[in-house]
Amino acid sequence: MKILLVEDNLLNQKVVSFHLRKFDYEVVCVAIWSDAMEQLKNNSPDLILMDIMLPEKNGFEITADIRKYEESMGIKHRVPIVALTANTLDNDKDKCLQAGMDDYLPKPFSPEELYAVIEQFATSGK
Ligand SMILES: [Mg+2]
Repeated sequence: MKILLVEDNLLNQKVVSFHLRKFDYEVVCVAIWSDAMEQLKNNSPDLILMDIMLPEKNGFEITADIRKYEESMGIKHRVPIVALTANTLDNDKDKCLQAGMDDYLPKPFSPEELYAVIEQFATSGK
């Protein structure tokens, strides 16, 4: 399973990708919307973990861009997007779902919680 991590904090990038690789996921880390869109178009991730507070465009805006892109391309199977929320302001499940995300995980989270939220989107053969 290929996971795209969109996270601008380098320490968080390191910690989360360390755990993901331990669970045998393939991980690509990016910190900004343009790199996320590039990965979406050229590397077809199976799941996206999306930080909310990001430079230039936040996680809600990037999610909207991704959903628009999928729609414009006629892509029926939307890539699952899980928000990684950091504070009470963006720690709102409804807001995440309305923005086109599929689930959310409040920080700080344990490796086990991370694994559980990802595995619900795993399909056989990946
Ligand atoms: Mg951030």
